[in-house]
Amino acid sequence: MDKALEETKYLMKTNKIKANKKLGQNFLIDDQALQDIANGADIQEKDLVIEIGPGLGSLTKILLEKARKVICVELDKKMINILHSRFIMFSNLEIINQDILKLDLKDLISQEREKDNEIQNVKVVANLPYYITTPIIMKLIENNLGIESITVMIQKEVADRLIAIPGTKEAGAITYTVYYYTEPTKIREVENSCFIPAPEVTSEVIKLKIRECPAVQVKDVRVMFNIIKSAYMQRRKNIVNALTNVGVFKTKEQGIQMLKKLGLREDIRAEKLSIEDFARLTDLFVNDIQKK
Ligand code: SAM
Repeated sequence: MDKALEETKYLMKTNKIKANKKLGQNFLIDDQALQDIANGADIQEKDLVIEIGPGLGSLTKILLEKARKVICVELDKKMINILHSRFIMFSNLEIINQDILKLDLKDLISQEREKDNEIQNVKVVANLPYYITTPIIMKLIENNLGIESITVMIQKEVADRLIAIPGTKEAGAITYTVYYYTEPTKIREVENSCFIPAPEVTSEVIKLKIRECPAVQVKDVRVMFNIIKSAYMQRRKNIVNALTNVGVFKTKEQGIQMLKKLGLREDIRAEKLSIEDFARLTDLFVNDIQKK
């Protein structure tokens, strides 16, 4: 029997824990999957690791052996006492009982760096609560937090979209945002039988390595993401129609002229545009506004 399964069963029984569905509690009980997450994160002895949603601590246990310090952020109060007593012998653990979406991570990381100047990289590692996968990932990548990488288990369907290559049919608007800020890779898939209770979907571990410089240079990144979002809201339509419908292009003619300047076909759809294409389109659009 896997050690994680044995320990999870024991902790759930002795602490009378029932997985809370509303909090996305699916405990990982597969030793190899846990090791693969930790190995994928490539934790070094001077790393500060932030673990989101440690639950009963199966992943925490491995992280504590490898990292300089592990900060766990867990919303469920019931888990906090269990974690404290389970890891009482580790001096490199801090547990924060908070909602990750409300926590000021920038402040937390800068305080840790001030306290300990030996810290090298900050890495986020987690088996995420699936009901808030996207807001958590957006918070981690968009706010220039000084994180080196994010290694997380999420729903396979979402994972495949996040790590798709922009400009392919697997991509969505979110793919461009992830690609702009990070270099994404797939680590492995994890069957639903590897959890207690089993989630309804297959899971996937991905790694997002934060880029030192964004993937493209663009005059206004917010405008670019708005254009991408608008184009993808009507992804079956060609981009001229989609962007004219939402008022990005004043007229279809204006849209056709812009695409022509970029050397793109006038009937092209959003999913055929690379991030570089969207950046050049954004620059033309911003120039146009500035001229007026
Ligand atoms: N890491 C454990 C494991 O792999 O077995 C548990 C993972 S479980 C999928 C997700 C964990 O996130 C749960 O422990 C849950 O209580 C916690 N959680 C849910 N919402 C949260 C939030 N907003 N902030 C912090 N933790 C949260």
